[in-house]
Amino acid sequence: MVHGEFGGKFAKILDTPWLAAPTVINAEPGTRGEFAPEADVDLYVYPHNETSTGVVTHVHRPAGISSDALMLTDATSAAGGIDFDPTLTDVYYFAPQKNLASDGGLWLALVSPKAIERIEKCARIG
Ligand SMILES: *Cc1c(COP(=O)(O)O)cnc(C)c1O
Repeated sequence: MVHGEFGGKFAKILDTPWLAAPTVINAEPGTRGEFAPEADVDLYVYPHNETSTGVVTHVHRPAGISSDALMLTDATSAAGGIDFDPTLTDVYYFAPQKNLASDGGLWLALVSPKAIERIEKCARIG
């Protein structure tokens, strides 16, 4: 889901020969889109707070998505500033240099057991 620059960058890197073409939901500037659950989609990605436009998408797991699907939340400018329920995302990742005032170059992620399983499966294939 794209609400501005950072979501757009993520959508761009998913367009690779190794993955099925992503479905990109582009919201009008300043508005929030919503996921349209599809049976064969196994990964949903969105920024918690789209820094370039100020659009906040609350951490959620859309009704109707596959139980195997992973939710990825880019929380770089939200982590430490916006409450969320960690059970509603599989990877909540952020650089703490914004709300948490760290130096740049450091990244942290909260990763669910289901996401760790997917990472290990991809590592075995690779
Ligand atoms: C700042 C920001 C990033 C990029 O963080 P860097 O540490 O500068 O790479 C990614 N996503 C969001 C939502 C951001 O606000």
